[in-house]
Amino acid sequence: MVVEVIEKRECMANQLLMRGHATVQEMLTASFGDWPPKGLDINPDALKKEPVKLIVFVNAKLNGQATSTTKEEREISINQNSLIKQKIVHSTLGHEAIHIMQGDTAHRKERSFLQKLAYNMFTDGEQQPLSNRVMEELTTEKKTGGGLCSEFQKVMKKTGDYWGEYKHIQYLRSGIEVQARIHQIIIEGYPRWGKVPATQDEFYAAMKNAGLNLPPEIEKRLENLPANSSAHSFLKCEKGQCHKVSEINEVTASFPEKGKQVLWNKVMPALYADLITMYGDKQGGQKMGFDTKIQADVAKTVKTTLTAKQTTPSLS
Ligand SMILES: [Zn+2]
Repeated sequence: MVVEVIEKRECMANQLLMRGHATVQEMLTASFGDWPPKGLDINPDALKKEPVKLIVFVNAKLNGQATSTTKEEREISINQNSLIKQKIVHSTLGHEAIHIMQGDTAHRKERSFLQKLAYNMFTDGEQQPLSNRVMEELTTEKKTGGGLCSEFQKVMKKTGDYWGEYKHIQYLRSGIEVQARIHQIIIEGYPRWGKVPATQDEFYAAMKNAGLNLPPEIEKRLENLPANSSAHSFLKCEKGQCHKVSEINEVTASFPEKGKQVLWNKVMPALYADLITMYGDKQGGQKMGFDTKIQADVAKTVKTTLTAKQTTPSLS
């Protein structure tokens, strides 16, 4: 059953690439195998209808590429040949489709005449996606705690390529990249789970099943789930093997202990809440436990957690 779904999604993704254009909804259908995915309440009109240009390219280093989230053009390039054997054309296409959606809901958001006027007056003409703004709260050096943990710095120094490694981890830690990888991890798990997670507990259970390293307090939370929790069904599934899990584990490992806590208590649920809201589930934020605006809630937690006096010695 799972194998059949993968084949179906690969076929869909390859057909879209051959055609040379696709709507975001078509690319999401190739991600999940069906649309809307089970487990969410999707508003079918939430996605932009204009097609995105698809290009097949050859590149020694890149699997895929999407135009910047702050540019007007919407274009995706896919290194199809290198992905066919691994059967991850649909996964990479999904990743790049998320980058297009991040721009569609931020810089390219549809605005009324008055909103546009205000937008141009009060921004420098670019609006960063919510995922980047949320992650920035955690990673901005000034706000402390977001720096790299000392263990990670040691590893980087050992490799002798400090700046190369530093750039690599800074790239992985940007909100848009983490969010696009969450999408890849979710679609890899979807055929096993039969639905996408829609609550915090389900999200954590799904991430554990996918193979992500979670901080001890989240592990404990999963061990103590109420007997009737819907999250159990995610934990019982066969383990996942998404090729992007190791990169998210790398992101988690790069934070000092306090940063790891904020990452998993607020930032990851926020990135996921924003992701399902972009899919078209308007209640995504509330379902994932955010009372007000996602970014404001995260900013508040980052400040209180990272400025609170540490009472236990840090392990990092
Ligand atoms: Zn990316």
